[in-house]
Amino acid sequence: MTSLDRETGRDRYFAQKERELDALLDPATGLVSERYARLVPCPSCAGSSHTELFVKRGYPIVRCDDCGLVFSNPQVVADVVLDEYREGGSNDLWVDVLTSPRQLELDRAKFAEILDELEPHRGDGRLLDVGTSIGLFLSLAGERGWQGLGTEFGRRALAYARDELGVEAVDTPIERLDGRFDVVTVLSVLEHVNEPRAFLREVARLLEPGGATYLIVPNVDSLATRVLHERAATFDGRNHLLYFSPRTLRDLLEREGFEVVSTRTRVASLDPVLEWLTYDEPYGGADPAGDPLVDAVRARRNDVERLLEELDLGYKLHCLATKRA
Ligand SMILES: [Zn+2]
Repeated sequence: MTSLDRETGRDRYFAQKERELDALLDPATGLVSERYARLVPCPSCAGSSHTELFVKRGYPIVRCDDCGLVFSNPQVVADVVLDEYREGGSNDLWVDVLTSPRQLELDRAKFAEILDELEPHRGDGRLLDVGTSIGLFLSLAGERGWQGLGTEFGRRALAYARDELGVEAVDTPIERLDGRFDVVTVLSVLEHVNEPRAFLREVARLLEPGGATYLIVPNVDSLATRVLHERAATFDGRNHLLYFSPRTLRDLLEREGFEVVSTRTRVASLDPVLEWLTYDEPYGGADPAGDPLVDAVRARRNDVERLLEELDLGYKLHCLATKRA
C-alpha cells in the first residue's frame, strides 16, 4: 500500500469495495449474477461482436470488435448502479478520501488547471457539474465568478457540497434538469454510465450551441493499464462500466454531435508498474528500491512523467469538446 493510500483512506475504501463486488456474484458460476447484470451491445457503436480481454473477480471485460471500445459485459443494470451511489457503503468511504487534506490539495491543483482551460469558453458563466461529488470543483469555480449548479446522488457527498462548501447542488438526474449552460463538466462520471450516448445527448440538450464540455475518464491505453492488465485498479466491472482510450472517447463524442478540441492525459501511476516489474504485487506498498530499473526511473521521474503525458500514456484522460452549432 502506498503512503497516499493510507493518508487518504483509500485502503479502507478498497476493502469495502471488494465486499460489494462479491455481493453480486452467482456462487454457482463465480460470475456476476444474471439477476444484476445483462449482456449489452457495444455502448458506443451498438455492434454485437466483442472479444473478452479477461475476467476480474467475476466481471468479464470485453473489447468491441468493430470500434475498439472496452466495456464490462454483462453490464450491471442501472438500478444496481444507482442504488450503490445512494446507499452509502464504499461511496461514503470515498467521501473520506476526497476530504482528506492531501487529496484536497491534489484536487485543487487539478481543478485549477481545468478552470484555466475553460476560461475561453466562459460565455455567460453558467456551469453545470454532473456528479459534483463533494462540490470542490464548483466551489473553486464560484471563486472565479462562475454560476454553478451540481448534481449528485451520494447523500453524504451532497450534504458536504451544500453544507460545508455552500455550493448549489441537487439530487436530480440530468434527464430531468432544465436550463441552458455554457459549460457542462463531467469529471470522473462517464465511466460509470450504462448508456453513454443517451447521457451525452442530455449534456448536448443542456448546452448552448457552441458550448463546451470537459470530461475526465480513466485511460485504458495508459502505461499502467497496458502493463498491469486486470491488476490495474481501474478495472472494476461493478463500478466502471466503460474504459475509454483517447480514440474511443473521441468517436463517442463525435457520434453525439460534439467536436473534440483537445485531449491530454495525466497521472503517471508509475509506482504500481514498478512494483509489478520487480515481481511485487501492484499497490502492495513494497519499496523496490535498489533495483536498477526502479532506481533509474525514479532518478528521472520528472522526465519519465513528461514523456508519458506526451505519448498520452497517463492514467487519466482529459478531454475538452464543444457542441457543434
Ligand atoms: Zn463498438
